[in-house]
Amino acid sequence: MIKGWAVKEKGKPLELIEFQAQPLQDDEVEVKILASGICASDIDACKGVYPVEMYPYPIIGGHEGVGHVTQIGKLVKRLKVGTLVGLGVYRDCCNSCTYCSNGKNNLCGDKRLMFALGQKGTFSDYVRIKGQFAFAIPDGFDDPEIVGPLMCAGLTTFAPFKNHNIKPGDKVGVLGIGGLGHLAVQFAAKWGCEVYALSSSSDKTESIKKLGAHHVVDMKQDPELKTIANTLNYVLMTAGGATNWKAFVNALAAEGKLVVMGNPGYADIPINPLALLLQQKTICGSAAGSSGVAVDMLRFAALHKIVPQCEKFPFSEVNEVMAKVKDNKVRYRAVLCHSLEKK
Ligand SMILES: [Zn+2]
Ligand SMILES: [Zn+2]
Repeated sequence: MIKGWAVKEKGKPLELIEFQAQPLQDDEVEVKILASGICASDIDACKGVYPVEMYPYPIIGGHEGVGHVTQIGKLVKRLKVGTLVGLGVYRDCCNSCTYCSNGKNNLCGDKRLMFALGQKGTFSDYVRIKGQFAFAIPDGFDDPEIVGPLMCAGLTTFAPFKNHNIKPGDKVGVLGIGGLGHLAVQFAAKWGCEVYALSSSSDKTESIKKLGAHHVVDMKQDPELKTIANTLNYVLMTAGGATNWKAFVNALAAEGKLVVMGNPGYADIPINPLALLLQQKTICGSAAGSSGVAVDMLRFAALHKIVPQCEKFPFSEVNEVMAKVKDNKVRYRAVLCHSLEKK
């Protein structure tokens, strides 16, 4: 039997459910979860924002899991019982379309399955998942409980460095310093970029500089980003609620890219094409990285001691903690830990 924190129907809070695990398939592993981060997308999925065909109830939340392999199917060669693994955004792909064949299984058009699918979420004690989507955590992390957020927030913010050709010395703006942004700042600094943190929370300035930002732009003081107009080679847009699109495009240097990664709140983008055309600026999207990028990201993070900064909570407080995350009251990522549960 597997236990997990699930939403049984739209609009309801999460509650602990118990269900019979499906038999372990030859290409699957079973992972005993230590801890799971909470991502804004979990809150959306549990609220029922995504189409119900994609996310049938009950939904067990969580896609930033970390834990040890406890069982292994006979086709899984890379992992062993006892391996510490991370579980993230993706759960399946076709392994044969053009994208999968080119190492971009995060873009698989045919069979890509993402988080929050039925009973596969990491707000649980065990998860059974294709071995292909369980990533061995390299040595170098002191606290395994806080590694989980690398699997979504980390993979999402690392991907553009690989996929959008960000180079050392580039001026990189990170918009929104929260669960995603605090990792983007660390990746950009260690990648060798000049890092501009664009934040509305002036109380975070000192801690943002400690993460590696060279400049902190207070967007309350300078909402139009006039002090950095035409400066940045990239703006990595990690903040869901950010809306001042004109200012973000205006902050880009010629040929600069505005990379949308945090869910921007479902609003359309009101940009005059001339603002893009005359200096060849680009607005583009970036999804969480492929399996190959996940391996690279974990190795890069372990090497450079890039770790999520987390507040830990017991799983049984999941509903309260999700509300805190939604109200932007957690620095910088909330992690649910089985070790904190009262016996
Ligand atoms: Zn996520
Ligand atoms: Zn595919």
